[in-house]
Amino acid sequence: MSAPRLEVDLGAIETNTSFLVEQLGLVGIRVTGVTKATLGSPHAGAAMLRGGATGLGDSRVENLERLEAGGVVAPRTLIRSPMLSQVDAVVRHASTSLNTDYSVLEALSRSAAHRGTTHAVVLMVELGDLREGVLPAELVPLARHVTGLAGLSLAGIGTNLACQNGVVPDDVNMQRLSALAEDVEAAVGSALAVVSGGNSANLGWALNATDTGRVDELRLGEAILLGLDPLTRSPIAGLRTDAVVLVAELIEVRTKPRVPWGHLGQTAFGSRPPRQGGGTLRQGILALGRQDVDPDGLVPPDGVTILGTSSDHLVVDLGDHAAAAGDELAFGVGYGALLRAMTSPFVTVLEHSPLVDGSKASALRLA
Ligand SMILES: *Cc1c(COP(=O)(O)O)cnc(C)c1O
Repeated sequence: MSAPRLEVDLGAIETNTSFLVEQLGLVGIRVTGVTKATLGSPHAGAAMLRGGATGLGDSRVENLERLEAGGVVAPRTLIRSPMLSQVDAVVRHASTSLNTDYSVLEALSRSAAHRGTTHAVVLMVELGDLREGVLPAELVPLARHVTGLAGLSLAGIGTNLACQNGVVPDDVNMQRLSALAEDVEAAVGSALAVVSGGNSANLGWALNATDTGRVDELRLGEAILLGLDPLTRSPIAGLRTDAVVLVAELIEVRTKPRVPWGHLGQTAFGSRPPRQGGGTLRQGILALGRQDVDPDGLVPPDGVTILGTSSDHLVVDLGDHAAAAGDELAFGVGYGALLRAMTSPFVTVLEHSPLVDGSKASALRLA
């Protein structure tokens, strides 16, 4: 089988989604499944929908187009403010987009009106993380403006935290969002269908808050795909963390001295802590490098230690494993590692549900 490859367990994506849909349903919050880390995979999107997501979101219109072409029938939201140069594609392939910019909204309006359709708009408000969003004081005027634009409907408001500066979603900023929803409704004279509280980093707040206020939707990617809380990168109880693994193939296994010899300068990618100790180790080289994955987010199988990575080689201490060239190792991935691997032309993607081939048994696995 081709390596390196990402193995995506669609069943795990579905059960992760349904767990979150159930838990969040108790506090009146819907789930939009975010597919960007799968590049808009129709299979992953369909698994999220089977798990109860009410719609799908992606930051790239190309990925939304891929979902659509793959036959996925669900509301599709562009979760990054549209490029002015892409508004027409956005109107064609997204039912909703998250917005902050007057000129983009006016272009969306012209395009939707020209096509005779209505494009739904969620206005993003800045609540401290300093990425996208208009300042709270600018929200009501912008909402009023949108209600006057042909071809657009004001679906709601939203915010995004914990991405740029790690601002934690909490009762204070979420209550602010709820209050702003009511300000906008009072100003425009109609109810908002969407109050989108944020991303996977909101789960700690949403699942423990005594009152989630007007927040009625979250946009979830990382929690569904990796089972991790982005604020701590630790597993979320009840979720599977093995939905996605990266499998790579050993191309060399040799017993080698533990420490290098000769004068030491920089490595191909800067300096590394010197290898310690004496004696030898069973060193394995995998055909996997920085052109394929961000090595920082890789979790090796039990008993295996990552020693270093260059463009094309990942060097590991195999410990006691009796692995040989041609054998495969499966690594857990973090979000950065997943994004890079999914985007590398050298990494294939194997989506399975349930696993239909022998690869899971033959690859050295996480515990
Ligand atoms: C990526 C993204 C999300 C999903 O984030 P996760 O941490 O993967 O849940 C939600 N909203 C916006 C605006 C995003 O860019």
